[in-house]
Amino acid sequence: GYQRVLEENRKLYNQVQDLKGSIRVYCRVRPFLPGQPNSVSTVDWLDEGSITINTPAKYGKDGRKSFTFNKVFGPSATQEEVFADTQPLIRSALDGYNVCIFAYGQTGSGKTHTMTGPKELTQESVGVNYRALSDLFLISEQRKETISYLISVQMIEIYNEQVRDLLVTDGLNKRYPFERNCLTVHVQGRELASGMTLRGSMHLVDLAGSERVDKSEVVGDRLKEAQHINKSLSALGDVISSLSQKNSHVPYRNSKLTQLLQDSLGGQAKTLMFVHISPEPDAVGETISTLKFAERVSTVELGAARINKDNSDVKELKEQIANLKAALARKE
Ligand code: ADP
Ligand code: MG
Repeated sequence: GYQRVLEENRKLYNQVQDLKGSIRVYCRVRPFLPGQPNSVSTVDWLDEGSITINTPAKYGKDGRKSFTFNKVFGPSATQEEVFADTQPLIRSALDGYNVCIFAYGQTGSGKTHTMTGPKELTQESVGVNYRALSDLFLISEQRKETISYLISVQMIEIYNEQVRDLLVTDGLNKRYPFERNCLTVHVQGRELASGMTLRGSMHLVDLAGSERVDKSEVVGDRLKEAQHINKSLSALGDVISSLSQKNSHVPYRNSKLTQLLQDSLGGQAKTLMFVHISPEPDAVGETISTLKFAERVSTVELGAARINKDNSDVKELKEQIANLKAALARKE
């Protein structure tokens, strides 16, 4: 009974979120890795939409703290299951929406695993970005009788606040580490019958580790890198908090990352954040701050997601028809 009511509420909530185009948040818990010493997970309990963490007293009352998200994936969730809940969002890029998916979490929590997959990629283990691309190609092929699609791909790296498209600078002959990159896909669909054009896009971003930089003792170039990484993450945090407070000025221009994501965060996009946590007790401080950040992100209400439609072809054709009719009328 109660469980069903909860489930129904959650469905309704997700539908409303879909209409509003708010930022969806999915939480994923990494399993303990083989070869790690045995320890007890910080995750006390989870279900499809909530997670409870066992915490030292300083982080929460009664040593437990709960968080609610649009979806929670436990340590045994497969890549296929994760993708199944991401697919509808990805497909809306073909319908003219801007879609943005980013992975957040401390180093080692599973961001690259979700977005790209593990080192040895198999059909089962590939992550969201390969699955998303092949899904877009599959659906565009299925629709080819009615819509002609043009799909272009960029692989963007933001490194020390410099933006590079790796496919342009280095070609396709390298296997890139997806961290620091985002994969950007532009989709242009032209409805053959009406000539109407839809322009969608998809950003897939594997963010840098969210752990506080002062902990890692880095010097020289590595320090510069760490500071830049920190800058884009803190700029992202600032953008999120001014969006959640509905401020009229949103500081997108403070980093290359937020400039790049402006379209996706600015209102008319469909945005999903995968927040990753590690189960180890020594990570509990980062886990709690990650989940708190994620909770803040989930309160951001964007405007209704909007389709990028372009009727200029239709307009042009209508004008031509009107001109021809006028010319005919003059001749008669
Ligand atoms: P991050 O990108 O956040 O630094 P990784 O994705 O590299 O973390 O994950 C760290 C390690 O944990 C990798 O060896 C990865 O394959 C493994 N791992 C992460 N998530 C999972 C998962 N859901 N199932 C199995 N192994 C995982
Ligand atoms: Mg990574």
